[in-house]
Amino acid sequence: MTTLDLTQPTPTIAASATEAVRRSRTIEREVRGIATSDGAGVKLTRVLTQNLQRRLDPFLMLDAFGTDSRDDYIGGFPAHPHRGFETITYMLAGRMRHRDSAGNEGLLENGGAQWMVAGSGVIHSEMPEQEDGRMEGFQLWLNLPASDKMAAPWYRDLPAAAIPTVKLESGGTLRVLAGRSHGVDGAVARPVTEPVYLDVALPAGSTFSQALPLGHNAFVYVYRGEVTVGDGEAASVLEPQRMGVLSNDAQADGVIVRANADARFLVIAGKPLNEPIVQYGPFVMNSQQQIFEALNDFRDGRFGGSEGAAAK
Ligand code: MN
Repeated sequence: MTTLDLTQPTPTIAASATEAVRRSRTIEREVRGIATSDGAGVKLTRVLTQNLQRRLDPFLMLDAFGTDSRDDYIGGFPAHPHRGFETITYMLAGRMRHRDSAGNEGLLENGGAQWMVAGSGVIHSEMPEQEDGRMEGFQLWLNLPASDKMAAPWYRDLPAAAIPTVKLESGGTLRVLAGRSHGVDGAVARPVTEPVYLDVALPAGSTFSQALPLGHNAFVYVYRGEVTVGDGEAASVLEPQRMGVLSNDAQADGVIVRANADARFLVIAGKPLNEPIVQYGPFVMNSQQQIFEALNDFRDGRFGGSEGAAAK
């Protein structure tokens, strides 16, 4: 893991390296998210749903939220537990206050992220710290390998300045939350699942390439504008608020995305764990037995240290 000095802003870096992609993966399946609500009535779009967990292993969930209406977010996510995976919250606009049962506290705001490894268990809350205005961002759930599910929890707040930002030759901008792109290491590196998490802004007509290891599951989520994914005859259009699940084509060495209009999109990829996935709400383990243990531990206050449910 890279050691970060969070007091020093990360300068915008001009890309010195390009990503050579000889042949692009294609869109195997286009997914429209499902409008739902979670927490205390927060309206969101669940883009990656439970039925895609096997196909997109090691990713378990992606929620997109974006609204100008306070009623859609003001309830926030009061104290709730997690065990067995990681949550990555990336805020484009708005402010959310995080508190957890270990006594940690942080403020997530404009362009910042929080990377939390729930491991053996945390109880935390994620509450809006604004009365009105826009709230927009994403929460991604990344699975932990069986051997790390009961590891000690940790988290890192990543203010906007801690996320490397790359000025692309095409005129676009790339933010590297995790993984490596255009010669730049992301803010976070994780072993085993080796996640790549990129936020890309591209002007109309320009192209973005990202090399991807063979066998890693990957998807693109467009949240502004429209793009074309792939090259040649196999290219297809991805409209806003759509996720494109990328083919695991053995001949492809990455993905090529072209902006049909000014566009913003996420590119997310990771190495599959190929282990059993058993989810019960905020617990994701490998067996039913482990889910029962999680429920018992939570009820008996053996979650997230002595403060237990005191997170607020
Ligand atoms: Mn949570």
